[in-house]
Amino acid sequence: MGSVETGKSSRVSGFHKLSPADRLKLVQGFAGLDAAAAGHLAQPALDPHLADHMIENVVSAISIPIGVATNMKVDGRDLLVPMATEESSVVAAVCNAARQCYDAGGFTTSVSGTEMIAQIQLVQVTDPQAARIRILERKTEISEICNACDPVLVKLGGGFRDVEVRVIDTQGGPMVITHLIVDTRDAMGANTVNTMAEKLAPSIERWGGGRVYLRILSNLADRRLARARATWPLEAIGGPAVRDGMLAAYHFADADPYRAATHNKGIMNGVSAIVLATGNDTRAVEAGAHAYAARNGHYGSLTTWEVATDGGLSGTLELPMPVGLVGGATKVHPTAQACLKILGVKSAADLARIIAAVGLAQNFSALKALATTGIQSGHMALHAQNVAIAAGATGEEVARVAAVLVERKAVRQDVAETVLRDLRGKA
Ligand code: NAD
Repeated sequence: MGSVETGKSSRVSGFHKLSPADRLKLVQGFAGLDAAAAGHLAQPALDPHLADHMIENVVSAISIPIGVATNMKVDGRDLLVPMATEESSVVAAVCNAARQCYDAGGFTTSVSGTEMIAQIQLVQVTDPQAARIRILERKTEISEICNACDPVLVKLGGGFRDVEVRVIDTQGGPMVITHLIVDTRDAMGANTVNTMAEKLAPSIERWGGGRVYLRILSNLADRRLARARATWPLEAIGGPAVRDGMLAAYHFADADPYRAATHNKGIMNGVSAIVLATGNDTRAVEAGAHAYAARNGHYGSLTTWEVATDGGLSGTLELPMPVGLVGGATKVHPTAQACLKILGVKSAADLARIIAAVGLAQNFSALKALATTGIQSGHMALHAQNVAIAAGATGEEVARVAAVLVERKAVRQDVAETVLRDLRGKA
């Protein structure tokens, strides 16, 4: 059973057993990658001239592995999902969770919209409440000033949507905060809305009668939420005891910020990996996610978990997802372009939806591992290979040393060095 739309299945058995080159060949065939994109992924060097134009004072670039998550079915479409991460177990966790809900239909996703918020801070206002109303009266002019900043966006159906004005109390006295609501379509939109806020600032000073300082987007992009839900059958979970352990883990996270921070970090293991692979801004998404998790005045879980009608587990994830297909590094970085081609997404909203599904998958796997064997057994098996490499193992030595570390339940560099010495002594 594969995707109704494409006829392709993401249930690729034995993918992890293939060599990186054979995996890439399979992904190339699945996603219809052209030779240039596949060639770049095989030799993913970043042109120093390009790097030099991306940031300041460039001297080099860092390579992070990109793994591909199999088994993902999102809104009826089978997907292979590229994930850039330096942490072992993250990709495997998504594959496992996705496999366990694949036959039940996979993930269903949606977005609330593609609107970003820019803030303009007005201080030293003698009559803040009246200033608020005076600014709101100018909605038509505000719309014209904003849209004139970005005719391309307006032509694409985006642009100014609304204005909100809040009076907030601060240590420095009342402030009048104007929010510009702008539909940035397929762009993340930070530069877009910052330009609008800066352009509008002198008018806000005139109408409000104070002084403007800050003019910048809010990373709490709560008008750009991505949502995912999925149900895992009881047999896939491993029975009622595991399910109840997973529920207890979720209840713990939602009640306790110390636990919630780690619970949400796990979700972001999946989320940030696709955000990075597609050249999007990981910090923007992470800041928004954590602020959203604290929106009720208490930092809690970004996911929810309940017993489904058939006794399985029903999970949801909702978080701000300001990502784009244009702007920033997305169009510039050749690896990001190749990853977007693998995903086959046609809009920023499509990308946001897939990212939410991966975040939910990640959380399912983390809760299941925590409620059963613990996180270390799976994690350490993969981590052992890193430890073996750090101890000096190369080629086939890596797997052999790692296997001994796992068997001895001592995934430590000093042990790896001894094992490596013994191995070489025998050779
Ligand atoms: P951008 O300005 O490079 O591109 C956006 C522009 O592309 C739009 O304004 C529009 O004119 C044009 N465009 C072409 N096709 C489009 C389409 N289909 N949909 C929408 N727009 C289209 O990029 P951006 O998205 O405004 O800004 C993203 C960058 O800003 C990221 O690199 C981010 O790191 C950075 N940034 C982030 C923050 C923050 O999060 N706090 C602050 C400043 C900058």
